[in-house]
Amino acid sequence: MTNEKHNGGLIQIKTREDVCPSKALDLKTVREKIDAATAHDQREKTGPQYWRSLEELAGSQEFQEALHREFPNGASEWLDIVSRRGFLKVMGASLGLAGMTGCVKLPLEPIVPYVRQPEGVIPGRPMYYATAVTLGGYANPVLVESHLGRPTKIEGNDLHPASMGGTDIFTQAAILGLYDPDRSQSVMSLGDQHSYAGFLSAIRGPLAAQKPLQGAGIRILTTTISSPTLAEQMRNLLKVYPQAKWHVYEPVNRDNALEGAKMAFGQPVETRYDFSKADVIVSLDADFLYGGFPGNTKYIRDFAKRRDPDSGNMNRLYVIESTPSATGAKADHRLGLPASEIEQFAHKMMSILETGDEQKIQVDLVSHRGASIVLAGDHQPPVVHALAHALNAQYGNVGKTVFYTDPVDANPVNQTESLKELVADINAGKVDLLIILGGNPVYDAPADLNFGDVLKSNKVPLRVHYGLYNDETAELCHWHVNGTHELESWGDARAYDGTVSIIQPLIAPLYNAKSPLEFVAMLAGQADASGYDLVRAYWQKQHSGGDFEQFWRKSLHDGWIEGTAFQPKSVTAKASATAAETKTADSNAIELNIRRDPTIYDGQFSNNGWLQELPKPLNKLTWDNVIQIGPKMAERMQIVSKDILELELNGKKIQGAAWIQAGHPDNSVSITLGYGRTRAGRVGTGQGFNAYELRTSANPWIASGVQIRKTGGWYELASTQGMQSMETPNGDTRPLVRETSLEKYKKNPQFAHEEEPEIPRDVTLYPDYHYEKEPYAWGMEIDLNKCVGCNNCIVACQSENNIAVVGHEQTLLGRHMHWIRVDVYYEGDRDNPRAFFQPVPCMQCENAPCEVVCPVAATSHSTEGLNDMVYNRCVGTRYCQNNCPYKVRRFNFLLFSDWDTQQYKMMRNPDVSVRSRGVMEKCTYCVQRINERRIDVETQSVRESKDIRIGDELQTACQQSCPAEAIIFGNLNDPNSKVSKLKVQARNYSLLGELNTRPRTTYLAEVKNPNPELKS
Ligand code: SF4
Repeated sequence: MTNEKHNGGLIQIKTREDVCPSKALDLKTVREKIDAATAHDQREKTGPQYWRSLEELAGSQEFQEALHREFPNGASEWLDIVSRRGFLKVMGASLGLAGMTGCVKLPLEPIVPYVRQPEGVIPGRPMYYATAVTLGGYANPVLVESHLGRPTKIEGNDLHPASMGGTDIFTQAAILGLYDPDRSQSVMSLGDQHSYAGFLSAIRGPLAAQKPLQGAGIRILTTTISSPTLAEQMRNLLKVYPQAKWHVYEPVNRDNALEGAKMAFGQPVETRYDFSKADVIVSLDADFLYGGFPGNTKYIRDFAKRRDPDSGNMNRLYVIESTPSATGAKADHRLGLPASEIEQFAHKMMSILETGDEQKIQVDLVSHRGASIVLAGDHQPPVVHALAHALNAQYGNVGKTVFYTDPVDANPVNQTESLKELVADINAGKVDLLIILGGNPVYDAPADLNFGDVLKSNKVPLRVHYGLYNDETAELCHWHVNGTHELESWGDARAYDGTVSIIQPLIAPLYNAKSPLEFVAMLAGQADASGYDLVRAYWQKQHSGGDFEQFWRKSLHDGWIEGTAFQPKSVTAKASATAAETKTADSNAIELNIRRDPTIYDGQFSNNGWLQELPKPLNKLTWDNVIQIGPKMAERMQIVSKDILELELNGKKIQGAAWIQAGHPDNSVSITLGYGRTRAGRVGTGQGFNAYELRTSANPWIASGVQIRKTGGWYELASTQGMQSMETPNGDTRPLVRETSLEKYKKNPQFAHEEEPEIPRDVTLYPDYHYEKEPYAWGMEIDLNKCVGCNNCIVACQSENNIAVVGHEQTLLGRHMHWIRVDVYYEGDRDNPRAFFQPVPCMQCENAPCEVVCPVAATSHSTEGLNDMVYNRCVGTRYCQNNCPYKVRRFNFLLFSDWDTQQYKMMRNPDVSVRSRGVMEKCTYCVQRINERRIDVETQSVRESKDIRIGDELQTACQQSCPAEAIIFGNLNDPNSKVSKLKVQARNYSLLGELNTRPRTTYLAEVKNPNPELKS
C-alpha cells in the first residue's frame, strides 16, 4: 500500500512488513511474559517486574534494536525529502533554509542601547507581572517573566489562593501561542485583507437595520465566559438588542456536571473540593490530577501534600475509569470499567452492601466520614454527577471537603442545547447577523449539527468570526476579525473558586488586533473604547470607598481581587435524583469513548509545537491521536499497535492508528479530540485524525455500537515510550522505580535499599573533590510519591531553556530534545497494571561518565557539582551521550532551532543560548537562575557587609512549575535546606547508584496506600 491521505491527514505508510521487518508485538508472548513476571510463586517468576511498554515486555525485536542503539537504524541520515519538508514546516514561518546546506552561520545583528532608559527597567533583569490565562473559561493565575517588554516565560502565581504557584501544560505553552507566526494578523473578508475600519463600515448598516427589530436577527455565539466585565457587556448589549440571543458552545464543556447539579439540587451549582482534608477519594472517571480539569493545580498540590508516608495521614485514592489516565496511574486501587458501567458502580455504592469490593470501599468511606470526596468526570452522564453528590451527602462530606458555589460560567446554559437552538434558528431563516466570538464550531461542533454545511447554505446574510486564527470557521464567514492573545490584552476572569484575576497585557498587540472587550464594545456602539478603560470602569463600579487607585494597583500587583471567591451555598439534594434507573448497556456492543486530548485538548492547541511534541502521559505518543484498545480485545481481534483501523458509528467512518494500551477496559475503545485539523496552521494542519466526525450532540462522550475494521494499512507513530531506556541490553533488570505499600514501609522503611549492592566509593578513577568546602553544592530530590505525571515540568523546561521542537519524523528517530522526561513504568496484570511516573533530568553525577569521554572537554565539572556543558566547544562526537547511563543528553542533529522567524526571536530567554546544529545539550539545573540569584546575594552581602547565602527561594524552572511540589532543588551544603532534609530520608535512593556515578539528583521511593482489605 503506498502513501495515501485519509481524513485529516493520516497517511498509510505501506504495510508493516515493508517498513518494519522486525517481529511485531505478539500479545500471546506478552501474556505469557506477564504471567511469568507476576507469578505468585517466586520460583516461577521471570522477566521484568516493571515495564515501560508492551513491546518491552514481549521482548520484540523493535525494542531490542532500540535498546542496543539509542538512535535506531536510519537515525544518522536524512535522505527522505518528504520528511525534510515536514520538519521545515514544523519550525514555523521561516523557510529561509539558513544553515540547511551544512555549515551554519550565526546571524549577526546590530544591538541598540537605550538612549533614555525607561524607569524601572534594567537590561538583563526581567520584570514579573501577575495576570491570568484562561482555559474553558476558567482563569489560571500566572506570573509572566518579561525581558525589556518581551514576555518570555510563564510561572504560577504562588500568592493566588486558587493556584498556589502551580500551572498546567496549556498555561505554560501559552507563550508559544502568543508568538505563533500563524496567528491571524489582519482583518479578512472573503479571502482578502481589510482594515478594521473597513469592517466597521461593513457592520454598521446591518447593526442599524436590527435596531427597529430589537435585534431579532442577531445571534452571538461565544465560548464559556467567566469575565465579569465581558459578561456585563454582553448583558448590556442584549438590553440594546432585547430580541438578540446569546449562545454558548465549546466542545469540552461542563454540560454533564451542570445538568447533574440541576438533577440533584434543582440549580446549576459548581462543585469545589478540598483535597487537603480528604483521607479517602473515589474518582468516578474524573481525571482531576491532570491539566484541563478546573482547579487541577490547586487540587494536585493539596492531594500531593497528603502523600507523605511519614505524616501519619496519607490519603487513599480509588479510581474507577473508562480510559487509562494520569489520575488512574496514581490510584491506590484502580478499576477499569466501560464508561456506561460506571453509573451502575455508583448506584451500587449507594445501596447497602454486605460483601464485595464496593462494600470494602464503603467501609473505608464510612470510617472517614466527613473526610472523603466522591467526584465524577465531566464526560460521565448527569446521573453519575447526581450520584456523586448523593454519596458526598451520605458520607457527611458536604461543607467539609465538598462545597457548592455559584457557577463560574457567567451564562451557565446547556451548551450543546444552546448550539442546537442556534442551528435551528439559522435553518429556520431567523438569523440575519451571526457573530462568532471565539471558538471554532465548524471544526468542533457535533457532527449531526453539520455546522459547516449550515454556514455554507448561506441562510445567514452576514457572518462574522472573531478569533486568534483564520481557521475552519473563519473560512466560512464573510468577515474574520483577528483577536488579541490574553498576554496582549486587558480583561478579567474567574478561577475555579470564583476568585477574579485582572488580565493585564504584557506586550502591545503584535498584529494590531482587538480584544474581546473592545470587540463587544464596538457592537454596542463604542468602537473606540479601550480594554483598559472597560475593565477599570467595571471594577470602579464594583468598588465602594474612595481608595480605588490603591485597590486597583494591589489587585494588579497580586494578580487577584480580594474577596471575589464565591462563598459556599447551601443546597438541598432531591431524593428523586438518584432513584433514576440504571440503564443496562448492550454488553455485546463495543463502546466508544471520546475524550479531550491530554496535550492538544480540544484542538485549540493544535498549532502549538511544544504541546504537539509533548509525550502524552501514559503512552508517550507525540504528534498524533490514536485508537486506544485494551490488550484482551486486541488479542481477540488480532490487532497490533500501529495497525490502521476504521471506526464506523451511525454510518460515519474515520480511520486512525491503533494503540494497545495496558489497562484499557475490554470491549471499548478510546479516541481523543483535537486532531485532523484542516486550517490549524503550519504545525497542526494534517496531524492525526478528526474524532469530531463521530461525535454527536446526543452522545458527545460515550457512544455504543461502534464497529471496528482493520484496513490492512499501518502507520508509524512517534511514541517516545521505548526510547532512552535505562535497562541493560542483556535482559538484566535494574531497580529503576522503587515502591512498596504503606503497610510494608512501616515495617521496613529501608525497603528502597534492599538488594542494593555495596557501592565501592573509593574504587574509582575519578579524583576526589571536597565539595563540602564550597559555599554551594547543588542537588535535587524528586518525590515519586508526589509526582502525578502532569508533564508540566517538561514544558516549563522547554520554555525556560529555549528547547527546540523537532517534528514527527525526527521524534520517530529518537531526536526529540526535551531536557527532562517523565518515564512511566507499569507493573502487574496487563489488563489492570499499576503505574508509576519517574521524571528524569540530568543527574549531575559527581563521577560523571560523560565528562571523561569528551575529547574537547566540552562537558566538565563545576566546583559546585554541576555537570556543565560548554556549547561552543562541543564538536558533536556524541561520546558523552553514548556513555550516559541515564540517556538524558540530547544532540542537535540538525538546525532544530528556528533562527529566522521574528516572533520566535522575541520569545526566547535571553539568559540561555540558542543551540545550533551539531551541539550536545542537557539540563543544567537552570544555571542561569543560579547565577542571577548569586549576583543578587553577593551584591547584598557587600551592601550589608555580611555573608548572605542563596536559600530555598531559588527554584529551577521544572520545580517552580510543578503543581505537586515533587521537585525540590537546593544547596546540599546547607543542612537546613529542604533538599538536604529530604536526602537523609529513608526513602532516598540514587538511580543506577550501583554504577558509582554519585548522582546529585536522587529520588524518594514511592509508597502506595492500598486498602489492606482489598486484594488489588
Ligand atoms: S515532577 Fe513534573 S510530571 Fe511530576 S508532578 Fe511535577 S511537574 Fe508534573
